[in-house]
Amino acid sequence: MKSIYLLLLSLILQACTMGNGEEDGRQTSTENISFDEYKQVFVEELWKVNPSWASYEGYHAYDSILLIPNEDTRVLQMSFADTVLMNLEKFDFDKLSENNKTDFYLIENYARSSLFYLSEFKSWEWNPASYNLGGNFFQVLDYTDSPLYERLSNINLKLMNVPEYYIQAKLNIDKPTKEHTELAIEQITGSLSIFQNNIVDSLDKAGSCGDLKIALQKNLNNAVTAIQDYLGWLENDVLPGLDSTNSRDFRIGEEMYNRKFSFDLQSMYSPKEIYKKAIDEKAAVLDSMYAIADSLWPKYFGILKKPELDKEKMISMIIDTISNQHVHPDSFVTAIRQQIPELIKFVETHNLLSMQDKKLEVRETPKYMRGVAGASISAPGPYDKNAATYYNVTPLDDYSEESAESYLKEYNNYMLQILNIHEAVPGHYTQLIYSNQSPSIIKSILGNGAMIEGWAVYAERMMLEEGYGNNQLELWLMYYKWNLRTICNTILDYGIHVKGMNREEAMDLLIRQAFQQEAEAEAKWRRARLSQVQLCSYFTGYYEIMELRKEIQKQMENDFDLREFHEEFLSYGSAPVKYIRQLMLQSDSNS
Ligand code: ZN
Repeated sequence: MKSIYLLLLSLILQACTMGNGEEDGRQTSTENISFDEYKQVFVEELWKVNPSWASYEGYHAYDSILLIPNEDTRVLQMSFADTVLMNLEKFDFDKLSENNKTDFYLIENYARSSLFYLSEFKSWEWNPASYNLGGNFFQVLDYTDSPLYERLSNINLKLMNVPEYYIQAKLNIDKPTKEHTELAIEQITGSLSIFQNNIVDSLDKAGSCGDLKIALQKNLNNAVTAIQDYLGWLENDVLPGLDSTNSRDFRIGEEMYNRKFSFDLQSMYSPKEIYKKAIDEKAAVLDSMYAIADSLWPKYFGILKKPELDKEKMISMIIDTISNQHVHPDSFVTAIRQQIPELIKFVETHNLLSMQDKKLEVRETPKYMRGVAGASISAPGPYDKNAATYYNVTPLDDYSEESAESYLKEYNNYMLQILNIHEAVPGHYTQLIYSNQSPSIIKSILGNGAMIEGWAVYAERMMLEEGYGNNQLELWLMYYKWNLRTICNTILDYGIHVKGMNREEAMDLLIRQAFQQEAEAEAKWRRARLSQVQLCSYFTGYYEIMELRKEIQKQMENDFDLREFHEEFLSYGSAPVKYIRQLMLQSDSNS
């Protein structure tokens, strides 16, 4: 009797667990289906409250809309963020797939950070350069998939709001920083050419389009007048009155810095921890550089006496000499093109990760994109997935002999290899291929910059550690110089905004202690005053990936496999490293 009872009970229990199991499985997928649906709704709504951002991402349904930056718009954007947070609460997080879990975190962070930016950071009050419409109008004009007439109609509607936009901008500005006011004058003056040249040229090309042409010409004139009025106001009324008592300090201070850092980088470390780590790392890198310079001394300087008491001087003499080994200006693009297959071959023969999609076209940077970086990756946006990926390299045709020489000394034979690892293989380009394999519109819009840059910086170190370049000392020395730039970006950014670092200290850090050219250091000092936190993303992501690798190596001991680590890490897409870490540690303890 007892045994029958037990048997029955166990059958019932079994049935229960089976039932639950089935139901769980069904719920899990239902939960994911409804979360996938929600993501679509979220993105649609996101574009409605941020139409300009939509145009940048290649979503052109709201190209005709220009929101006035007033209180109503901010309330609209904040209530959208509140609604998003409420909607997220409806999902059972544990039942989501790994891809959806990371998307969940990214959406949540978007909502919280958008509330932070609108109600606490408030750069709409103190950054006059945030009212620059040039790029936005260019995105609409440049969308060549749409007929010119349609683009011009959208531009016409958008232009109608420009005068009110700038009236509101003037009302918003309150105690701006001197630096951002100067930036605004420079950038918005530059943007005028989009209105006065690009749009006008397109209008000429459009031929006869009757009433549209007349209306557009009138709205364009009004818009240009409004922009010029804003510029005149900044130049004549705002800037002359800005001194230390009534302008805002460009340094955002520790409390605000911590908040911004947590939203922008989503790191598991605090800014203070990252700063401290960067200081330690800088000392370690300098020691390694000194040891290399010491070994290379006889090769380059023979019996010349070493400046032994001045480590930096000795390192910089060696760097300067090695930098003379560079390609001819005419073969810069060719040199890069030839190197990509070698990098792919190294990654494959050393079993570092699989490179299924090898297509990467190295091209000369299109003329309209030139001017900023010498090399960059152009990846298709989320709405243009089938477009090709390019590695853009700017040829040195337009450089004077002197500046070409200076540029080539920086990107000498050794540094060029590090650059190609970072930008292309196995850096940005490879990461992109992996993230496209688990396509997530959320990750392509809200992807984590620290993970993306951190991976490229990690790739440089990993390649050299695995023997790329046969441990040639010159290559290691140049790698360290490059790595020091990443480390010093962090020290500089935190130093300026939190610790009050001044110009003199910044220049000493970059030029004497990190071997940078004066022009490069000047540009960095400027960038660090105009932005906050972004300069930390490279080192933060790199450090997090290195720590994660150590942790997994320790956990798996002899079973650790570098290729598996790389492929699994990249399979989560451009999510913050701290969430990838959670998922990887979980899956390793399960397996
Ligand atoms: Zn990069």
